[in-house]
Amino acid sequence: GQDGGDQRIAVIGLGRFGSSLAEEVMRRGWEVLGVDEDERLVQRHSDALTHAAVADCTDVEVLRQLGVSEFPLAVVAIGTDIEASILVTSNLLDEGVPTIWAKAISRQHGRILERLGAHHVVLPEHEMGERVAHLVTGRMLDFIEFDDDYALVKTVAPQVATGVPLGVSAVRSKHGVTIVGIKRPGRDFTYADAETVVESGDVLIVTGRTAAVEAFAELD
Ligand code: ADP
Repeated sequence: GQDGGDQRIAVIGLGRFGSSLAEEVMRRGWEVLGVDEDERLVQRHSDALTHAAVADCTDVEVLRQLGVSEFPLAVVAIGTDIEASILVTSNLLDEGVPTIWAKAISRQHGRILERLGAHHVVLPEHEMGERVAHLVTGRMLDFIEFDDDYALVKTVAPQVATGVPLGVSAVRSKHGVTIVGIKRPGRDFTYADAETVVESGDVLIVTGRTAAVEAFAELD
């Protein structure tokens, strides 16, 4: 992310993905320009965004006129129309937009965007599908995997971790995971240390190798 400095973002495509992203970025106090060639979508989201425009962004002249070329950050939120997604991404690259995020609807589409030079490619449906797989098959409440096989999960405390201080239950050496913090129902989040005693019903934030974290979350 861009911290501190220039908090402006251009979002091309105001479908479900683009509009949700644009509105969430607005809530973070950023300036958001949303563009879509569909006038109804622009009308629907214009009140919620700093600027909104109806335009076909496959035309590089349009990007210049709208000032998109001057933005420090742009998101290409076009999926279904792969040709448009590719053209808009290459236009933004040609215009020298320093950071470009692009959404892809398939791995092949993602590979093309990466080859073009998009700085970040996201595959929302694939990524969400993989994430939800961990939630539906286990007791995890949330699951985030990092590139290098590490994960951070939110899970209900297994019995083996409760009742004694973490220093005694030795979760890290026995299970290869680190309990980062605890959220007790109705209480604030607290960081965990060797003296922390996990209670039954606590929600834990746990990190470690994906396989270790998964195994820990499956314990009784
Ligand atoms: P989602 O699944 O998030 O709704 P879509 O791929 O269906 O994503 O939506 C992409 C949006 O991008 C649509 O609203 C479409 O009108 C818009 N779009 C497609 N091509 C262009 C283009 N060349 N310029 C501007 N907007 C475009």
